[in-house]
Amino acid sequence: MKLGKYKIETLQTGTFGLDGGAMFGIVPKPLWARTNPADEKNRITLGARCLLLQSDSKKIIVDTGIGQYWDEKFSKIYRVNQSENTLEKSLSEKGIQTSEITDVILTHLHFDHTGGSTKLENDKFVPAFENAKYHVQLKHFDWAMQPSERDRASFVVNRFEPLAQQGVLNFVSLENQFDDEIEFIPINGHTFSQQMLKISDSSNTFLYCGDLMPTSSHVPVPYVMGYDLQPLVTVAEKKEYLGKAVDENWKIIFEHDPEIVCATIQKTERGFDLNEKFTELV
Ligand SMILES: [Zn+2]
Repeated sequence: MKLGKYKIETLQTGTFGLDGGAMFGIVPKPLWARTNPADEKNRITLGARCLLLQSDSKKIIVDTGIGQYWDEKFSKIYRVNQSENTLEKSLSEKGIQTSEITDVILTHLHFDHTGGSTKLENDKFVPAFENAKYHVQLKHFDWAMQPSERDRASFVVNRFEPLAQQGVLNFVSLENQFDDEIEFIPINGHTFSQQMLKISDSSNTFLYCGDLMPTSSHVPVPYVMGYDLQPLVTVAEKKEYLGKAVDENWKIIFEHDPEIVCATIQKTERGFDLNEKFTELV
């Protein structure tokens, strides 16, 4: 689909599994399991949907999925399945080499968003996109380098620190307008200074909302992940951006939904809910 100067597409990068209880916080299992069936270890299936935006001068990737090179223990715990898709495979199916990527925008540095940012070369992690500039919020990078005991397991430092060491990280701090179409929106409920992307032209607006609402099941306001550092901030942020999505007819893109790519939102007497659901970007 075309949006301003960009052709915008999704990239599938495999699936993984996380504990359904942790994914839905205080929501009882009979409610979330209807749309997200759990396996024998209580894990639900999550996608890792990245974006590819191409203009005449840029090829941009948004988030990089869980990536490869995980050991057996990690792959088992998180049920990493890349038998059908990896980021590299999805790109090469579109005829794109990793060297052609000009920019990688990272919503945040949790391993399921930044795992594919680096690759293993001679026992060392190096940038996977050799000519790209990587963009992340400065405050988030600072937090990721020194997280709390509670969220430390979500940051696998050797998957993103090499980007800083190689000097390819651009730290976003003040200017959140990337260009005419792309705006970064920092939010703080899930982790500190995660950046969502608002991608718009005069007729359409997409919100790539990262882990504010990882799946379409997370649209109702109380459906907040147990992982979130500041759940009441997430509640306020969801109300703000879901309200805008209703008022301005935005489509929300769900990074981790295994099936639904994006949706419009409606407000009913019971609160915010999905309106039209789509299995491709339209
Ligand atoms: Zn996250």
